[in-house]
Formats: sequence, structure tokens, C-alpha cells
Amino acid sequence: MIPVLMPVYARSDVAPVRGEGCYLFDADGRKWLDFASGIAVNCLGHGHPHFTERLKAQVETLIHVSNLYGSPQQESVARRLVELTFADTVFFTNSGAEAIECAVKTCRRFHFVAGRPEKYRILTFSNAFHGRTLTAIAATDQAKLRDGFDPLPDWFRVLPFDDLSAVEAALDGSIGGIMVEPIQGEGGVRPASPAFLKGLRQLCDAHGLLLILDEVQCGVGRTGTLFAHEQYGITPDIMAIAKGIGGGVPVGACLATERAASGMGVGTHGSTYGGNPLAMAACHAVLDIVAEPAFLATVKARAARLRSELEQMIGNHPIFAGVRGMGLMLGLKMTTDSRAFVSHLRTHGLLAVAAAENVVRLLPPLIIDENHIRECVEKLSAAAADYRVPEAA
Ligand code: PLP
Repeated sequence: MIPVLMPVYARSDVAPVRGEGCYLFDADGRKWLDFASGIAVNCLGHGHPHFTERLKAQVETLIHVSNLYGSPQQESVARRLVELTFADTVFFTNSGAEAIECAVKTCRRFHFVAGRPEKYRILTFSNAFHGRTLTAIAATDQAKLRDGFDPLPDWFRVLPFDDLSAVEAALDGSIGGIMVEPIQGEGGVRPASPAFLKGLRQLCDAHGLLLILDEVQCGVGRTGTLFAHEQYGITPDIMAIAKGIGGGVPVGACLATERAASGMGVGTHGSTYGGNPLAMAACHAVLDIVAEPAFLATVKARAARLRSELEQMIGNHPIFAGVRGMGLMLGLKMTTDSRAFVSHLRTHGLLAVAAAENVVRLLPPLIIDENHIRECVEKLSAAAADYRVPEAA
């Protein structure tokens, strides 16, 4: 008999009912150090007082109105994002995949209203993850995401990641934009090289294409700057964000320059829930804390500490091959199946997330302190010491 929850997830036996700071607890009082953060979502951890207070106040005032009405709440968050970034305009969504959808539509309309409808394709990269909608799975070559969904639209051409010459060779009259994660998350915590992102920016400028960055996972302070691209010295034309911006309330956003959004007039896009007052209160609460330069400096310092402790620790355990990533988006490359090891970590009271290329992803709340770092590294080390590689792996 089919379970009441459509069985699309291989759920673990961790069933949290309460969170406190960087910890999760189940109904029996079992406790985990949460270095998964709901996959890079709970940037302020669990039950952060400022976040909780702003949400409570909003729940008591107004939760939802339609986008048929004016939204002072959306305008104030959008103004903040515009002030903090390259963008001139923002569309709010409820998820990362919807932010990607808006980004792709914005690119399509940009060329359409300029009389270039033939430029409907976007270049994307191998192992990319942009979400689970049909558009998002059409934008990747990951077979496990696409399996059973052919035929998919031919709106994307997928090229090797970090290979600028492949991009140059693929440019033809059908290409209208390039979409890339500055740091591939699901794809194995792989940062793009600075030369690659800078090169993409230059190619876009030279050929009249739009550069779309997917910062759904790496954005909102995760790498120690508000957005990862700041560390690459480039700006996009369009950016999709989600996850951390809502701190746990489902929010996403598509940010764009005025030029890139030139085709997004009345009726071209919409969302019933997108940007409702509750979601906007969550964004304000997150930005109140994460956008502060002192907070971001602390994220950078904690990230450097975690990375150096991990680098020391892995030398003692041959199942680890290296540390990769940026800021508090770190990956432990393993010489064995990372999924099996991530489930073993749960028995040691540590939550992490597996990624492609046998990588264990560490995505702690951005509020971690030195004690959480020490506890994480101790748990990883203890788990590695008593790990027996499964025979099937
Ligand atoms: N883009 C990236 C880089 C992601 O990591 C994800 C989710 O993991 C998405 C898009 C899709 O976001 P959502 O699951 O909120 O639709």
C-alpha cells in the first residue's frame, strides 16, 4: 500500500520535533548537532529570539493578502535587497525552483521584447542542481533527476562545469543567457574558479547575453559575504535566491537589473503566496542579522576555523580525501560512499548532508560558535574511527 506521504524521499529515522540553536531533538529527547540546517535554510539556527519575535508579531498582525493589492511589506524587503545588491527589482517566490523559473522567464522575455525570440536557450553546467520543476530538471544533465521525464524541453544546453572554452564553442544564435551556481551544492560542493565566473561575465557582455546566478544554496551569508559572487568580483544580471533568506519560512526571490527585467511587465508572471507578509517578516528578521558586516566577518572567522580543524582531522582518517567549498558551505570528499557515512554520522548525533562525488556537506547554521565547531569535528572523528565501510558500497 502506498504510504500517506508520496514515497519520493528516502527518509532517515531522525524525526525532529523541536529545535534549539544549533540542535534538534526528537520526541524521545534524542539530540543532534545540526550541521545540515534543513539543507542551508536555518541560517539563524532554531528558535532564534529575534526571528521568532518578528514572526510572532507578524502572525498577530497579518499573514497573507493577495498580490492583487499593494504590499508595503514586499516593497520594504525589496528595497533592502536592492540596496544590498546589484539588483534594481525583485520578484518574491516560495522556493528556489520558483526563483529559477522566474529567472528563466525574465531572460526569455528580455530577448523577446527586444525582437530576438530565437535566443530562447540558456547554457547550464554538468551536475547542476536548480530544483525539481520540469524547467529546472531540463537545465541539468543529472540522470537521476531527469529519469522518466523525457521528452524535456530543449531550452538548455548543458556544458562541462568550469570550462570556459566549452562555453565559447557553444555560443550560437539560439543562446540568450548563461545560468550557473557559483558553488555547486548538490553537485558536490564545487566552487567555480574565479577565471570561469569572470570569463562568463565577459562572454555575456560581449555577446549580449544575460548572466543568471543561482545563489539559492550559496547565498545569504553562507560563504561569509552576503552573496557568493561578491568574492568573485562580478555581478550577474539576474540572481535566484531562496533557502537562507527565509530562515525556515518558505521564501525565494528573483533579483534582476532594470535592463534584464525589461520584459517583465504586467501579466508576465505571478504567484498566489509569493512575498506574503509572513514571508517578508522572515526576510527582514534574517537580513537584520545576516546583512550586518560584523556578523558576516564572524561567519568568515568561524568558517576558517572549521576548515582548518577539518583539514587537521582528516589526516587521521583515510576515508577522507580532502576539504572543499567556501565559507560555511564545506564538503568533505570521501574515498567511500558519503551517503552511508552520513547515516552513520546520525548515530553519533551529527546531521550533515550527502552530495554528489562522495562528498559530505557541512552546512551549519551561520550562528555556530567555537564549541559547535569542536563538537562537530570530534563527532566526525569518532564516527570515522568506528566506521565499517558497508560491503555494498
Ligand atoms: N538551486 C540550488 C542551487 C539548490 O541547491 C536548490 C535546492 O537545493 C534549488 C535551486 C531548488 O530550491 P527549492 O528546493 O527551494 O525549490
